[in-house]
Amino acid sequence: MAKMKKKQDLPTKTCPRCRKPFAWRKKWEKVWDEVKYCSERCRRG
Ligand SMILES: [Zn+2]
Repeated sequence: MAKMKKKQDLPTKTCPRCRKPFAWRKKWEKVWDEVKYCSERCRRG
């Protein structure tokens, strides 16, 4: 039996600006708890 990595284990949040769900990204690995918006554009509003 081969071990498969689950791609859908990534955590997700919902952007309060555009109301869209977004998934964890590598660039957020150290600040995920602080991430609120899906993109820089949403963050700046
Ligand atoms: Zn957004």
